Amino acid sequence: MQLKDLKFMTSVPQVSQLPDDTGREVVFAGRSNAGKSSAINLLFGQRGLAKVSKQPGRTQAFNVFGLDETRRVVDLPGYGYAKVPDSVQRRWGREIPIYFAERQSLCGVVLIMDVRHPFRDTDNQFLTITAQHPVVVVLSKADKLSKSQQARHLSDAIKSAAVLGIAPESLVLFSATSGQGRADLSGLLEHWLGLDDEAPEPED
Ligand code: GDP
Repeated sequence: MQLKDLKFMTSVPQVSQLPDDTGREVVFAGRSNAGKSSAINLLFGQRGLAKVSKQPGRTQAFNVFGLDETRRVVDLPGYGYAKVPDSVQRRWGREIPIYFAERQSLCGVVLIMDVRHPFRDTDNQFLTITAQHPVVVVLSKADKLSKSQQARHLSDAIKSAAVLGIAPESLVLFSATSGQGRADLSGLLEHWLGLDDEAPEPED
């Protein structure tokens, strides 16, 4: 079993409709346009995988992907640009805290932020909801900055993270374009999803 084996399972608007809360689950989140779909597609080695989450009707829903019966990835809709009716937005706003409070199989939260604009208010609010879970902050689009700019933005981000109780090791510079940070993040995902303690599969 490998990250590239991920397949779309279902889209559901409510926690109560999610697949059974067993095994291991990792969740992806971020502001709209942060680069979440690009990151998911790169990390799971499939172009267009996360596109499904942007289809109408699936934008205010838990978009669930599966590696097998016991390992799942949930793609949450990008927050920030709510182009949905208030009633839908309010209902969704109630589901998210329930998900993070109740989901026993949740092993890790991957929060994507544009490296140039990290830790905005909506990100910080989101992080208060997820506080009791392991989190990695993916600072995306790093290729848009020079190495020295990256270092400066990372050091500022580390300070913002510290205020929220997030350790410096939980921040990763990432680029879906260049692949920067991919190996570290893939390793963490394999760990969270329990793929690293499996014996390697024989080559075909
Ligand atoms: P989402 O709304 O968070 O899913 O963001 P997308 O993955 O759709 O990306 C939003 C825009 O940013 C698109 O135009 C992407 O091509 C671009 N983008 C995403 N990741 C990167 C990256 O690592 N580097 C660069 N240069 N552009 C990126």
